[in-house]
Amino acid sequence: MNRISHWINGTVVAGTSGKSGKVFNPATGEQSAAVDFASVAEVDAAVANAVAAFPAWRATNLSRRAEVMFHMRELVDVNRKEIAAMLSAEHGKVLSDALGEVARGLENIEYACGIPNLLKGGYSEQASAGVDVYNIRQPLGVVAGITPFNFPAMVPMWMFANALGCGNTFILKPSEKDPSVTMFIAELLKQAGLPDGCFNVVHGDKVAVDRILDHPDIAAISFVGSTPIAKYIYETGTRNGKRVQALGGAKNHMLVLPDADLNMAADAAVSAAYGSAGERCMAISVLLAHDSIADALISKIEERIPNITVGAGDDPTSEMGPLITGEHRDKVATYIAGATQEGATLVVDGRTDVPAQGFYLKPSLIDNVAPGMKCYDDEIFGPVLSVVRVKSYDEGVQLINNNLYGNGTAIFTRDGGAARQFQFDINVGMVGINVPVPVPVSYYSFGGWKSSLFGDQHMYGPEGINFYTRSKVVTSRWPDPRTSTVDLGFPQNR
Ligand code: NAD
Repeated sequence: MNRISHWINGTVVAGTSGKSGKVFNPATGEQSAAVDFASVAEVDAAVANAVAAFPAWRATNLSRRAEVMFHMRELVDVNRKEIAAMLSAEHGKVLSDALGEVARGLENIEYACGIPNLLKGGYSEQASAGVDVYNIRQPLGVVAGITPFNFPAMVPMWMFANALGCGNTFILKPSEKDPSVTMFIAELLKQAGLPDGCFNVVHGDKVAVDRILDHPDIAAISFVGSTPIAKYIYETGTRNGKRVQALGGAKNHMLVLPDADLNMAADAAVSAAYGSAGERCMAISVLLAHDSIADALISKIEERIPNITVGAGDDPTSEMGPLITGEHRDKVATYIAGATQEGATLVVDGRTDVPAQGFYLKPSLIDNVAPGMKCYDDEIFGPVLSVVRVKSYDEGVQLINNNLYGNGTAIFTRDGGAARQFQFDINVGMVGINVPVPVPVSYYSFGGWKSSLFGDQHMYGPEGINFYTRSKVVTSRWPDPRTSTVDLGFPQNR
């Protein structure tokens, strides 16, 4: 059995805790590896190496740090197919989707290549007579990332590229469900010239996470995962004096107004609901269809569903792969079963005719869904699209704004005024106008509102640079010592 161990101080380190987790190939349902789970002592060893590596890395000049990122950019690009194959083998996503994940992760490494420019401070000459004031941004020290199963390469890249570029050293605790790719990333960072100890990977469960939360030498934590764990990470981490950004779950609504192009809206809804088997935090899971076009839109979506090829991720003809585990597949299926009992209409049942092996479900479409039903209230995180029929724009906006989550949303319309009003009205962090999956490019920042994000800095982009640095303001003067006097007054300028 393939064994996945930790990466500490630039090398693979076998786990000694005696505890491990099972990694599956979701396409076959078979176990493909065992991943070591770190003990408290193993997390401590990784942190000690990151602490030791920090002073030299922090002192490394900006051009050299940028050069490491440029090398990393090339290495990820050259190895993009290999990374995609690894993602597909443990996550189950199809190769085209996996290549998309690598490309969107790579954007963040490219952004960090500009670190000399991103860390420029401001300078005010002559703030007072002979006095200059300037601010500089300095790294925090050792920072940690805790990441989810659904983007095992991209989400770590959201974090480590900027964190390392800013001069921090990094501890990554990836998802235990698909951990292999992080070991490959660690090797590539070493090849790119990153000094040993600057990037460490500890695999594990709650034991490793809790040690990261408690460790006095970890200054900040970036988390991406489900809302209950995000809340726990934020509350525990901040209580322990750390800076924390914790991104949680989602229930993204797409509002389709009567004037929208219905073929385009149907294409977008199908792509955004069933891409990556719905295991995206930016997936569309609720379609808000205006009454006047709901029947037509639903039948267009229903027509498209049988054309989606469901199969193994490494089969180039597959468009949608399996779910991450058998347990998760069964949980998603309970929402489909429960919907009819709660009064909704099951238009397409994805539980039928699925491959015998592997963790598959096909796309499901549920109509006449309403708040209060479990398939509306919960984040399902599977290939299930729920339709809520609305009588007006206002009713649609109210539903979105009343929702617990506020990660992403989209409006489909040809009315620029309505779209402009939507962006003004909506309490959601990322908004698409005729764009169903509005994941911001790397030079903006990613983050939701409400229960989709705990903390006040969004991830990557300019807010990522803010998160991984502290600002220091320096006031300086070089007076002639002969002019020096004692003055107990408060320094002022008038
Ligand atoms: P998860 O919350 O189960 O796990 C995320 C991380 O937390 C993993 O590393 C896991 O090992 C760890 N963890 C799990 N349980 C823990 C516990 N009790 N104590 C301490 N640590 C624990 O999430 P997941 O199932 O891996 O990922 C799917 C979730 O992530 C969905 O809710 C999805 O919406 C969310 N997600 C959000 C975003 C975003 O940007 N907002 C992006 C991707 C995924």
